[in-house]
Amino acid sequence: MAKIFCVANQKGGVGKTTTTVNLAAGLAKVGQRVLMVDLDPQGNATMGSGVDKRQMALSVYDVLLESASVAEAAVFSEKCGYHVLGANRELAGAEVELVEVERREKRLKTALAEVDAAYDFVLIDCPPSLSMLTLNGLCAAHGVIVPMQCEYFALEGLTDLVNTIKQVHANLNKDLAIIGLLRVMFDPRITLQQQVSDQLKSHFGDKVFDTVIPRNVRLAEAPSYGLPGVVFDPSARGSQAFVAFAQEMVARIVKL
Ligand code: ADP
Ligand code: MG
Repeated sequence: MAKIFCVANQKGGVGKTTTTVNLAAGLAKVGQRVLMVDLDPQGNATMGSGVDKRQMALSVYDVLLESASVAEAAVFSEKCGYHVLGANRELAGAEVELVEVERREKRLKTALAEVDAAYDFVLIDCPPSLSMLTLNGLCAAHGVIVPMQCEYFALEGLTDLVNTIKQVHANLNKDLAIIGLLRVMFDPRITLQQQVSDQLKSHFGDKVFDTVIPRNVRLAEAPSYGLPGVVFDPSARGSQAFVAFAQEMVARIVKL
């Protein structure tokens, strides 16, 4: 049975897409069968997995509108070692088109149920908003992975997301839990980041992943080659951290 996780944070530029594609690549590297679902109309996770968003015959948009199945729309990225259910600008229209339909927030969940046996992990890259698209992700998932930078307002920014997750848990998806907070773009030389990291640990305890993702330029360069850092430069510190994170996820799932 596939474990389904959303990578979410309503802030933009915090590292959601980088986390999604590198965790997908890391999990594939340690032998897991992975499907990466791009729910952001920007399609960065699609492009960053070696799939051209402008050339896709079918995308997650078709799946949400029930004109294609996940098996039909997903493509295998040879270089990355995982399947990609891609997104492009067309997806922005789904928001409006779904308003009128029944069980609109459960569309992705229903579609993913059909491929449950085909994957060990499904990772969903969410857009930086708490929209109908993100809601579809949250309804489909067993848990949420929250990437965050250790900045002064980091904790404050979490409140909206935590409240949304609580509401979805109460009304739509009783499976949903925060799996963990992932510290990303971390620079240990910055005292403030150390302090916020310590605060996170004392506030959220076990919910903070042990693995810390450092700020690493190779992770930022990789998308321009259409690859996750883990594939682009496996020896980079950031890539090694994401493989360690994949191993931590596998170990955590066994305990769930
Ligand atoms: P989001 O999906 O939340 O908008 P991204 O994953 O696109 O965020 O990351 C925002 C920017 O930060 C991108 O340019 C990305 O390459 C860069 N970035 C993300 N993580 C790291 C990291 N650990 N080290 C250096 N740059 C990073
Ligand atoms: Mg993104």
